[in-house]
Amino acid sequence: MQRLIITLDGPAGSGKSTVARRLAGLLGLEFLDTGAMYRGLSARCVERGIDPVAEDYAVVELARNSEMRFDWTQDPPRLHVGGVDVTDRLRDSDVTGQVSEVSAISGVRQVMVREQRRMGEEHPRLVTEGRDQGSIVFPHAGVKFYLDAAPAVRAKRRAQQLRDAGKTVDLEEVRQRITERDRKDSNRKFGPLICPEDAQRIDTSDMTLDQVVDMLEAEVKQAVGAAL
Ligand code: C5P
Repeated sequence: MQRLIITLDGPAGSGKSTVARRLAGLLGLEFLDTGAMYRGLSARCVERGIDPVAEDYAVVELARNSEMRFDWTQDPPRLHVGGVDVTDRLRDSDVTGQVSEVSAISGVRQVMVREQRRMGEEHPRLVTEGRDQGSIVFPHAGVKFYLDAAPAVRAKRRAQQLRDAGKTVDLEEVRQRITERDRKDSNRKFGPLICPEDAQRIDTSDMTLDQVVDMLEAEVKQAVGAAL
């Protein structure tokens, strides 16, 4: 079967995960949530009491020694890090609170990029989403998107997601947290959040989820319809 990689990058709360998952379902492709991998490693650091700022070497060692495995038979796939199922911890605030520190570590990114490329070999028909998928991990992807939205809209969406997951949220706190996370993700030295030059940038502020998914589906069909 012909290889087809579609990348979706963008800041927190831009709707990437939901859109990527729906798009993958519509096109009959698999879906890779790379944010979950950084979150999974962050969860293991919390569990072991590793401080990613003071003990970056310990985080790299943990990343090197922990197999990252998605159970692709589940929807969404469950994530096991070093044999531990961390799926239910991924969105917890302590894990989210230090994920940008974990993902800024160069040795961690090297491990993740290698793992993501390996997954891309094993699952060569993939919609993958994150911060560096089109720029670093899959520079030759068939189609690249960059999803953005106004900060206030992104905060609202993230707050809703958390409420849907049964969490109590304060909108202003969510807004501050995602602004801070984006600042760190955009300014780090290795694999920062950028819009690749050859990506299509889409501002989803005034679009519904259905509209975004429809638009991306149409773009993919137009760009690489023959590969579907
Ligand atoms: O997309 P999500 O909010 O789940 O990502 C969580 C964090 O993981 C981001 O804030 C970022 O620090 C990191 N990340 C990254 N590179 C990726 C995906 C996520 O650095 N490809």
